[in-house]
Amino acid sequence: MTNTESAPGAAKKASTRKAAPESAAPAIIEVRNPGTGELVGTVPDEAPEAVAAKVRELRLYQPEWEAIGPDGRKEWLLKLQDWLVDNTEHLADVLQSETSKPRVDALIDPAFSVDLTGYYARRAAKFLADEHPSPHSPLARVKKLTTIYQPHPVVGIITPWNFPLAMPIIDVIPALAAGAAVILKPSEVTPLSALELARGWAEIGAPPVFAVVTGAGATGAAVVENADYIQFTGSTATGRRIAAACAERMIPSSLELGGKDPAIVLADADLDRAAHGIAFGGMFNAGQVCISVERVYVEAPVYDTFVAKLTAAVKELRLGIDGRESKHDVGALANENQVAIVQRHVEEAVAAGAKVLTGGKRTGVGTFFEPTVLVDVDHTMSCINEETFGPTLPVVKVADEAEAVRLANDSTYGLSASVWTGDKDRGERVARQLNAGAVNINDVFANLFNFALPMGGWGQSGVGARWGGANGVRKYCRQKAITKPILPTQQKELIWFPYQMPKLLVAIGAMRAAGARGLRRIDIPALLKLKRDDR
Ligand code: NAD
Repeated sequence: MTNTESAPGAAKKASTRKAAPESAAPAIIEVRNPGTGELVGTVPDEAPEAVAAKVRELRLYQPEWEAIGPDGRKEWLLKLQDWLVDNTEHLADVLQSETSKPRVDALIDPAFSVDLTGYYARRAAKFLADEHPSPHSPLARVKKLTTIYQPHPVVGIITPWNFPLAMPIIDVIPALAAGAAVILKPSEVTPLSALELARGWAEIGAPPVFAVVTGAGATGAAVVENADYIQFTGSTATGRRIAAACAERMIPSSLELGGKDPAIVLADADLDRAAHGIAFGGMFNAGQVCISVERVYVEAPVYDTFVAKLTAAVKELRLGIDGRESKHDVGALANENQVAIVQRHVEEAVAAGAKVLTGGKRTGVGTFFEPTVLVDVDHTMSCINEETFGPTLPVVKVADEAEAVRLANDSTYGLSASVWTGDKDRGERVARQLNAGAVNINDVFANLFNFALPMGGWGQSGVGARWGGANGVRKYCRQKAITKPILPTQQKELIWFPYQMPKLLVAIGAMRAAGARGLRRIDIPALLKLKRDDR
């Protein structure tokens, strides 16, 4: 018997908001374990004025944080890294309490956070160093050119519920490393892990340049109203609203949104690896990963064998609630909203002729939903053309590679994809044809564990990217160009007032000589005019 069978009382909602009487303390948000329904914490639903006040306070401390430079900030970030290592078990406990994740999944968040913190703490100085680009033209060699990176004073970070610690960390750390102060608004469904992070920052005695505000959409909207840059991770619908609000304020943003990642299985693939990899890619975190595999296209000659292997791999998954001991592979869904989406996608597919090979329904405990493999599906079905964000793997038979690429690209999303083949060069050829921000060959999620690569979506999956080496911190900065004279300066430059055609023609002619090509380099009509004027 799994723990899910014995867990009492299905959760009605993972978090619920209790209205406060007018002009009283802020309303309270209840945080519940979605697997058991147990109340595991309460947090304030903070009002817009409280958010504005926190941002004002952050602004006071940010200049000093910027002034200590990347090496000074590195010391604090590495202290936080130590704190993450020392508190790993506790952080996993908190994370499990608000998500009902298996123990292994809960331990991934802190481990990932440690890795990323080390990367940006140690490299920020190099990434933020002044640059001295070569002038584009010999005429510009009279100046020393410098590009500097100066942080946006306050970066607002808004995160979803699927990785309650890692999601905040992956953006908070590079923003802090850049020298910005950070206000974080975690999901109202899972705010407890983010509050632990704030506790850690305070416990190591770091400068007060990182604050967490809890609440739902209105609190997030207040972050957008007050910060200088917005890093948002969440649904495409919310991302669109945030992009519009940022445009209104003329502030930059980076949006990491939904996905509908395809996996392409070619006939020459190692089918065992493909089946296990795709089962993991589709079911890890109960399918609640932006880069989950959500559609599978298989070349006809290997379709039956692959589907049998995939179904067997998915059937083996153990569903249930872990304590500190690891006993299960798949946990609960985050809340009833997620269950409703998954259920609708399965039911609509079945009603339109799809077959369920395994799973297909909730377990009856909490928000658990059985890992599901669907076949006889097509692109008219919601399970293929909408983001599911749950444990479903719809599989489509395709005639050949070309059809697989065409169908994989038939989506408004473009987050990531995978290609499974025995020929790695063929895999790369296919990868280059896919409309996606990342493609993994014979693997899933590999791009996510490589901070030197950009992680960003195409199309409805986002605008901008996180990570990508230096860009991961530079995105939180404004660039400034500085020119400094190399040669002694004259009283006046050639093209300053008052205009004198001969001098101007010399300047224009020089620009033309340096930048144009062929005979156009020589401005003959101008030279003739110059001769006339000289007379
Ligand atoms: P969501 O869009 O409902 O909420 C995300 C965050 O935005 C929450 O903190 C929420 O309170 C806040 N919010 C809601 N309305 C707001 C508003 N008007 N202004 C400001 N903030 C507002 O998303 P979710 O349900 O929490 O998360 C699931 C989604 O996140 C999925 O679509 C998934 O694909 C996406 N996601 C994307 C990535 C990525 O890197 N591309 C990573 C994880 C999750």
